Amino acid sequence: MPIRQLPDILINQIAAGEVVERPASVVKELVENALDAGARRVDIDLEEGGVRLIRIRDDGLGIAADELPLAVSRHATSKIASLDDLEAVSTLGFRGEALPSIASVSRFSLASRREQDEHGTVLHVEGGKLGELAPKPHQRGTTVEVRELFYNVPARRKFLRAERTELGHIEEWLRSLALARPDVELRVSHNGRPTRRYKGGEDLDALERLGETLGEEFARQGLRVEHSGAGMRLHGWIAQPSYSRASADQQYVYVNGRSVRDRNIAHAVKMAYQDVLFHGRQPAYVLFLELDPTRVDVNVHPAKHEVRFRDSRLVHDFVYRTLQDALAETRAGMTPQPGV
Ligand code: ADP
Ligand code: MG
Repeated sequence: MPIRQLPDILINQIAAGEVVERPASVVKELVENALDAGARRVDIDLEEGGVRLIRIRDDGLGIAADELPLAVSRHATSKIASLDDLEAVSTLGFRGEALPSIASVSRFSLASRREQDEHGTVLHVEGGKLGELAPKPHQRGTTVEVRELFYNVPARRKFLRAERTELGHIEEWLRSLALARPDVELRVSHNGRPTRRYKGGEDLDALERLGETLGEEFARQGLRVEHSGAGMRLHGWIAQPSYSRASADQQYVYVNGRSVRDRNIAHAVKMAYQDVLFHGRQPAYVLFLELDPTRVDVNVHPAKHEVRFRDSRLVHDFVYRTLQDALAETRAGMTPQPGV
């Protein structure tokens, strides 16, 4: 075959392979967009585990009507404009590829209205093909509708699991977003019935959202962590050793507000718990690490699940020491077991 330039739609569908694994990835990207737009409330309506419908409505800043086609174009973003911006990025998004990717593998629509607009505007996209802009009544903010995910990519569709499994993945993502943003109200419905409501309006370190998200028991026994040093701040909650789990199901780490999986931090936590947990038991924690954005590279993977620290050793030590100190207090309170 000769070398040829691929058409845009195909390029987007290839990118979708990385960004859109399943309905939960769509929910993640769209809710993150809502948060980047300053939303105070986000409504998430789902049908059939998100496969039939994902509708995300926010009350954020909205998008200018003439920019709607741009929003669904590849590498178009309002969040960065230069390499300097990228290196100091503080928004959750910056790659400008979520909307075009999602729109290329679904029946998609984007409706929005800004404060100063007289009416809202909607843009439909069908398998990556843009329709005409049309007026549509809309409150301030943005609504994205994603219907029949992967309808045009049968190979992907085959990998989707049962409705309950897909819903479970979505709920897990929402839990992790909810933990990071207790100031935002999140309302979820599935198949027309309200299933979850995170109240919102709470302070980041208030216990309320923790209880709503991970259960009252975690909130009751959790140890508050708050420590700054070496230009970093670590805060959040860690569970007492007595609350240990059989699996790693309650381990949440955020770097500058972004939920990440980080082996380095997970290892530091594990080391800190080493002497106080029984073998095979898992600690539970919700930890927020804040540091200068130029000290961490968030552009490691399209789905942004991972970050790279400039000095991972320093981060490891900082987390380890902070948690060891926090746990030392519980250890001091523990009665030594005879023979241990
Ligand atoms: P990114 O988030 O990386 O910029 P996206 O493809 O997710 O890329 O979104 C493209 C652009 O569309 C964003 O930069 C933003 O300007 C706009 N946008 C997307 N979703 C929303 C939203 N819910 N509210 C306001 N603007 C949005
Ligand atoms: Mg985005």
